[in-house]
Amino acid sequence: MIDSQAIDIQPIANSRIQELDENNIPFGALYSDHMFLADYYDGAWQDARIVPYQNISLSPANATLHYAITVFEGMKAYKNPDGDVIAFRPEANAERLNISGERMCIPEVPQDLFMEGLTQLLKIDAAWVPSAPNTSLYIRPFVFATDEYIGIRPPSNFRFMIITCPVGAYYGKPVSVKIETEYSRAFPGGTGYAKAGGNYGASLYPALQAQKKGFDQLIWTDGQNHEYIEESGTMNVMFKIDDTLITAPTSGTILKGITRDSVLKITRDWGMKVEERPVAVAEIVAAAREGRIQEAFGVGTAATIAPIAKIGFGDEIFELPNPENGELAQNILRELNNIRYGLIEDRYGWTYKI
Ligand SMILES: *Cc1c(COP(=O)(O)O)cnc(C)c1O
Repeated sequence: MIDSQAIDIQPIANSRIQELDENNIPFGALYSDHMFLADYYDGAWQDARIVPYQNISLSPANATLHYAITVFEGMKAYKNPDGDVIAFRPEANAERLNISGERMCIPEVPQDLFMEGLTQLLKIDAAWVPSAPNTSLYIRPFVFATDEYIGIRPPSNFRFMIITCPVGAYYGKPVSVKIETEYSRAFPGGTGYAKAGGNYGASLYPALQAQKKGFDQLIWTDGQNHEYIEESGTMNVMFKIDDTLITAPTSGTILKGITRDSVLKITRDWGMKVEERPVAVAEIVAAAREGRIQEAFGVGTAATIAPIAKIGFGDEIFELPNPENGELAQNILRELNNIRYGLIEDRYGWTYKI
């Protein structure tokens, strides 16, 4: 068990908070004053601490540098109108970190270590949670192997860290996506369901090829036959066709998004027809040709909702109607924001007050 006294806190001498301009926040470039760390050695997590944000030193033989033995999470905290800091569904991230970790032979991070580290870090850096409209604090928990060993084996030493950075109002410019039928992100028995570092490094090259053809992002399809839609970039993807919200079931190859889960709960409660089932590429292409796709969007923590304006498949490009003002996307975004910023009753118990 961990309590707040078990975390050694070394506060920064001079805060850098004056560098933060809430109305002009560069994404991922400005990190908050402090970071949380804990080390795993002799079979246990130890030395939980909060220190000023700073570089860390690693052996050149560090196992993670060579073999990507690392998993991460992404979540956000918000300020409510009273100025309280609220995290959105952090327990779900703690749980998923361990689901990812197990696949990479990373030992479980106890939920109370995760939650207490997060809570103490957000307390000491509360000033870094911006309050300008649509801003938030992005939170990046991650675990990596620290073994100084160049052989390939399950490591025995690890580090768990949490860093945070304020993020500005995300402008959800509708994106153009290409249905990818050559490269794969995931395959049965692989690591697609895990937020494991290597998955993301390996996705850059295919995404770059699509960008050279003028697309913003890929729609990944199954790694066996490229017959089924899986995800869009690093977001889950949803379609509104014939007034029904359709998305692929999370499986070994699809990451179980917390935003996806939240959107499905909300839309079902609205009485909307929702289907979680395999989504064939052929079905989406046929619906697009017939002009029956009413809306399509990616869902994930970073952008919440990323409306899709164009879908490329082979030599065809389908333009979706009115992507800037999709009614469903806007309703979902408003509802999620109202919950996350504490503007309406939290009927799902999704918010965690620091
Ligand atoms: C993180 C991630 C998502 C979205 O998950 P959220 O919990 O909603 O942020 C979807 N797909 C992939 C591949 C991801 O890495």
